[in-house]
Amino acid sequence: MMGKFIFITGGVVSSLGKGIAAASIGKLLEARGLKAAMIKCDPYLNVDPGTMNPFQHGEVYVTDDGAEADLDLGHYERFTNIHVSRDSNITTGKIYYSVITKERRGDYLGKTVQIIPHITDEIKRDIMKASRDSKADVTIVEIGGTVGDIESLPFLEAIRQMRWELGEHSAIDIHVTLLPYIKAAGEQKTKPTQHSVGRLREIGIIPDILLCRTERPISKEQREKIALFCNVEKEAVVEASDVEHIYEVPLSLKEQGLDDLILKRLNIKRADKGLSNWKRYVVDRLKNPKHEIKIAVVGKYISLPDAYKSIYEALVHGGIANNTKVNIHKVDSEDLEKGKSLDPFLADAQGILIPGGFGERGIEGKIAAVQYAREKRIPFFGICLGMQVATIEFARHVCGLKEANSTEFNKSTAVPIISLLEEQKHIKHLGATMRLGLYTCKLIKDSKSFQAYQQESINERHRHRYEFNNEFRKTLEAKGFVFAGQYPQKGLVEIIEIKDHPWFVACQFHPEFQSKPDKAHPLFREFIRAALKRVNK
Ligand code: GLN
Repeated sequence: MMGKFIFITGGVVSSLGKGIAAASIGKLLEARGLKAAMIKCDPYLNVDPGTMNPFQHGEVYVTDDGAEADLDLGHYERFTNIHVSRDSNITTGKIYYSVITKERRGDYLGKTVQIIPHITDEIKRDIMKASRDSKADVTIVEIGGTVGDIESLPFLEAIRQMRWELGEHSAIDIHVTLLPYIKAAGEQKTKPTQHSVGRLREIGIIPDILLCRTERPISKEQREKIALFCNVEKEAVVEASDVEHIYEVPLSLKEQGLDDLILKRLNIKRADKGLSNWKRYVVDRLKNPKHEIKIAVVGKYISLPDAYKSIYEALVHGGIANNTKVNIHKVDSEDLEKGKSLDPFLADAQGILIPGGFGERGIEGKIAAVQYAREKRIPFFGICLGMQVATIEFARHVCGLKEANSTEFNKSTAVPIISLLEEQKHIKHLGATMRLGLYTCKLIKDSKSFQAYQQESINERHRHRYEFNNEFRKTLEAKGFVFAGQYPQKGLVEIIEIKDHPWFVACQFHPEFQSKPDKAHPLFREFIRAALKRVNK
């Protein structure tokens, strides 16, 4: 079978959960025995989101092959068995960069280089390449932004052309839209959806299926009205109502037969394997947990839910594995001041997690939170910057190295316990110059980490510049710091633990990117398990 395509666009407003809808469709296709691939097209001019502020863009997701990518790729991997890569995220910046490079090289042989056909051809080529390389039966292409944005026009034109070129039954268009409910009128409104579909039709895209985000059920009359005015069949008006947990979305879409609808349109016949495991293990446990727990996440981007997306999800996964509802208590590290009691922020947490981050702001608050967790024997999980501050704290307060710091925060510190490697010191550009993507880590057997993974060699994703400075290894070890994992080729420290503590584990990599609802990451699973023990004391 030649690879087929599903193009997903969004209308009316942003933040409709298009990424989750797309990921859920990927899940539905896999449940029908199809191999799916997923691509996110982002219309912004940044080449990748690597240098973007998390407050604006949310988390930067990292792929196995070290791409800094849009956070929707995280949803794709969490919901499906797909492995995303560098090719799974196409931005306007990437497309222009490539076209302009070709132009400078003279590849266009003197032609005038234009948005159509050169930019659109480049987009089509990248989509086709990603699809071909993945050997997928069906490739889902999500177009970021909202229909009507100037920026996304070249992407829409490219997918319009692709559908035309691929021919019947080879591609379909799904439009995710909003049916707002006007309380004062007591009515659900279809007009914004009609306008959005009208806008799509003007540029030659005729949606086959509408996924209507709505707070209330769609009545029969409204469904008929939407079908008539938007040129879709009644059965193709699918209700995407608000659900309690995002992992319920695939079930709710399947109940309405969205997978049958898609397969019919793409002329594919496959048996249905169903989603009963997902329902039983993920959704039922989320809805009826046996235990409940409170975990404090101490970071500087806590006001934006998307900034630590994968961390929050991985905590939920750790909860599912332990049949536990995880209540996440977000603590702004800048609120934790030195010398002031941390009790009001942390006393009732059964576990404390410090996620990754960049820059000096809020660092002292994080160090104070580590000290609190260490001294009060609260299970602690540090990730990337979280490992670096845990190391600084231990050096300062246990080893007496009062000036211990990272050269990221104090270039001339007398005790550079976290620093750049010699080979990195000349780097000037900020884009993609970090240790990025998968690296192997060897674990020592006598460690909490080994107990969690149950294997000696693991592969985890990275995104950082600074490293533990091995000159200080012995000093810390002598006081009970455990170097539980390292990258053998270069002797870089990947995991640290504290011996005399119920559960104090911190890693230089980002385990959150490989956690799934039906397969929690071992460290998140064990962190929640340790935290639960504290509750039960
Ligand atoms: N800023 C630190 C570094 O670059 C940590 C990065 C992170 O937490 N992702 O090494």
